[in-house]
Amino acid sequence: MNVIEVENLRKTYGGLLSPRVQALCGVDLSVESGQAFGLLGPNGAGKTTLVKILLGLVHASAGHARLLGRPPADPASRLLVGYMPERREYPPFLTAAQVLDFFGRMLGLDVAERRARTARVLEEVELSRWRDHRVGGFSKGMQQRLALAQALLPEPQVLFLDEPTEGIDPLGRVAIRRILRRNLERGRALFVNSHMLTEVEMVCDRVAILVRGRVVREGPLASLTSPQAQYRLTLANADGDAVAALLAGSGVTAEALEAPPGSSLWRLSVTDRAALNAALDRVRSAGIEVEELRRVRATLEEVFVETIRAESEPHPADGPAAAPPGSAAAVAEARR
Ligand code: ATP
Repeated sequence: MNVIEVENLRKTYGGLLSPRVQALCGVDLSVESGQAFGLLGPNGAGKTTLVKILLGLVHASAGHARLLGRPPADPASRLLVGYMPERREYPPFLTAAQVLDFFGRMLGLDVAERRARTARVLEEVELSRWRDHRVGGFSKGMQQRLALAQALLPEPQVLFLDEPTEGIDPLGRVAIRRILRRNLERGRALFVNSHMLTEVEMVCDRVAILVRGRVVREGPLASLTSPQAQYRLTLANADGDAVAALLAGSGVTAEALEAPPGSSLWRLSVTDRAALNAALDRVRSAGIEVEELRRVRATLEEVFVETIRAESEPHPADGPAAAPPGSAAAVAEARR
């Protein structure tokens, strides 16, 4: 089931008295329950605007957004959504339980339900024993987990997370990831907005890259980081020319890499596993030993940087380069 559906979503800020800014220019995407979706993009790409529309905080200028099958501003869908904002500051004199009780009141929960849920979410975020401690004494990692507890209070079907692991130490990040994985196992969907790409890579199974209000890449993480299967093959005591001749007729594309003396190293691009195995058979039947075979993937950061770079290169079909955002020419263009 799709918990989030976005179709041709557009948002233009400004108007008569201020310059028009096209924050979203026709975004399409969907997120299923039990899926961890990562929204990436450079500063100003439109990520926050998209999240605000999905939370019903900002109205779209055109297109459709549906949350749990309903319009985002519908109170029935908002009650089933948790939001962990990037900046969270709780009054330092309140205890963890008092903070959650306050948010429970805002959800309209009665006292018994607030108590039960507070205990449950504190357990979920591994803060039960800090229940009656003042949050002013909490570490950054504990404050983050408290924010996650607050987001879990509605028992949401979708969790929006804005920079969930920003500014916390490695142990704290491991704890947050563990809690998020448990939520995924329970069938909840995660919508993660983050610049920390290694974190996104560890949590998300699907990502979209937003650039200047458009989704320029979208798909399962594995297919973005490894569009074509690539392997590094190390062979022992092999003659480079002989290996090249063997691999040339095997159906894989092979490129020789620099190798230490006594071995030869190859980058293989293969269309399927059968081709890889056929290539290995040819090499081995010539009496050459395989020392190591390793699958190579690009990191999400490499994919991101390459995507942004490709998007910022002017395309011949685009005509003259666009004026930089905020410049007089860009403002004039937006007003047209
Ligand atoms: P960041 O990563 O820096 O948080 P973002 O990807 O979340 O950026 P948005 O905050 O959605 O991007 O902004 C997208 C564009 O819309 C930017 O050009 C921004 O200046 C503009 N914008 C955002 N909010 C408003 C607003 N309330 N009024 C006018 N322009 C806005």
